[in-house]
Amino acid sequence: MPAQKIIIAIDGYSSCGKSTLAKELAGQLEYNYIDSGAMYRAITLYFLRNHVDYSDPIKVLDAIANINISFIFNEQTHSSDLQLNDEDVAPYIRDMIVSEKVSEVAAIREVRSFAVAQQKRMGRKKGIVMDGRDIGTAVFPDAELKIFMTADPEVRVMRRFKEMYATNPHVTIDEVRHNLELRDYIDSTREESPLHQAPDALLLDNSGLTREEQLQIVLKWVKERNAPIRQGRD
Ligand code: C5P
Repeated sequence: MPAQKIIIAIDGYSSCGKSTLAKELAGQLEYNYIDSGAMYRAITLYFLRNHVDYSDPIKVLDAIANINISFIFNEQTHSSDLQLNDEDVAPYIRDMIVSEKVSEVAAIREVRSFAVAQQKRMGRKKGIVMDGRDIGTAVFPDAELKIFMTADPEVRVMRRFKEMYATNPHVTIDEVRHNLELRDYIDSTREESPLHQAPDALLLDNSGLTREEQLQIVLKWVKERNAPIRQGRD
């Protein structure tokens, strides 16, 4: 049976380990990994830097017209590094100041139309793993494999805390917990493409799983969908 490249859509709550899984899958399958959350973070960074009043849709559209988001494929990691107007903004988009506002910005209709149109274009050739909140429901409703990830809230808080503490030793566990709860609440209750499990998405609760265990589970799902897996993993 001829093997074919597929689209893998991964959605779920904040800090469930979506990007870790997505990167490992892309490496194994030689696919391209796209972090859709990084797009919303980059747009938020632009709004904050330029003091855009994002409660006004006209100002939002004006600002978006000046935003160019590009992805540079990294052969080593099989992921694509985001550039905002040709600047590598990776060092800034995970700052707490961006995390505090990103869900408000991502709830804006004009922002979502802009980001989703670009995300759909990136999936045209398949062979892509994209993670986010609406990938299986709105961006790629026909994705061959949809995964909805979840994990125990305290496990998620500690994961994100450790990640943030590495670059900001002043961050507190309470601050991280509050931010995750707030983003999950806004993301799942907003009007535009709220976060929810697509009816055909497979649920993956990784609270008690190691990285390798979760990877093996998902590689099996990929195999069942007739996509090629590099030798050594078959
Ligand atoms: O994935 P990450 O946690 O970096 O995403 C940051 C925020 O971007 C989310 O909390 C959510 O508000 C928004 N987002 C979204 N749709 C996506 C990806 C992210 O609304 N597909």
